[in-house]
Amino acid sequence: MIVALLLLAYAALLAVVGPYVVRRARWVERAPRLGVAAWQALSAAFVISLVLGGLALSVPDLRLGTDLATLLQACLTALRAQYATPGGAAIGASGAALALLVLVRCGWRVTVTLLRATADRRRHRETLRLLGSRHHESGAVVIEHAVPAAYCLPGMRRQIVLTRGAIEALSEEQLRSVLAHERAHLRGRHDLVAALAIGLRTAFPGLALFRAVSEETARLLELVADDAAASSTHRLVAAEAMLNVAGQPSPAGAFAAGGSGTGNRVRRLIAGVHPFGRARTALVSAATAALLALPIGIFTGPAATLLDTACCASDPAAPSHAEICAAMSMTRDCLPR
Ligand SMILES: [Zn+2]
Repeated sequence: MIVALLLLAYAALLAVVGPYVVRRARWVERAPRLGVAAWQALSAAFVISLVLGGLALSVPDLRLGTDLATLLQACLTALRAQYATPGGAAIGASGAALALLVLVRCGWRVTVTLLRATADRRRHRETLRLLGSRHHESGAVVIEHAVPAAYCLPGMRRQIVLTRGAIEALSEEQLRSVLAHERAHLRGRHDLVAALAIGLRTAFPGLALFRAVSEETARLLELVADDAAASSTHRLVAAEAMLNVAGQPSPAGAFAAGGSGTGNRVRRLIAGVHPFGRARTALVSAATAALLALPIGIFTGPAATLLDTACCASDPAAPSHAEICAAMSMTRDCLPR
């Protein structure tokens, strides 16, 4: 019960404190890729804590990861004790329902988000096939429209799309910068990262944590692409290029070079980005790993102890430690004792 309470308290802490951390972090401006990874880990840590908390509430034996009838038989006493009272049974059933609900809802919403984006892009490609022509220098698809715009359609049949207005408005260097921006989106599979964040936000629509993570992830993915654009030419060229194609919202399922937030992105490019440094990168990476490791450690720590001491040792009819180990074929972890 203590393990379950710790895990659920950790999830609650992440849900309350997480949005403030995500919204107020300034270091992500200097390391947007690391920022995306950190916020994804924060989301994952919340989901993992909920699922493991539910499992810890339901059946203690499940934490051992056993599927062997022998061990289940050995732990029957513990199960009986847990479900002997209506209160215990209700807590156990609630825990199992929580774990299942979180897993199914997250998986379902992420899958739906991916499928919708794929369908949007397929429809868009069909339109491009009718209206677009090939830009020989870059391989991009060109649509005859006066408004300068550039975007990409990720996926298996990835495409970069430019309007005629963009080609006329951009210098050769600026066009190279815009193309580098779009290629960074495609190469980094930013569509999958964004879909995961959006899927979790729709799975928990009232939760500020996932709303903050989703919005910040979208913003940071643009910064990652901007940095690629800046390194392909020069940050001032990239800034000017983004300004030239700014103002057009991204089509559904696509990543635009301009769009909302372009003003702040351009200011960042003009000001320049100081390197984040190896020490800071290591520190943030360690903190990110700790976010994920903590709930797993809370869950597996007691489970390992439980395994080592043989959970039903207090039952005189239970099998011996050696018998349990032999049944689980886990001699490395169990023996000697
Ligand atoms: Zn972009």
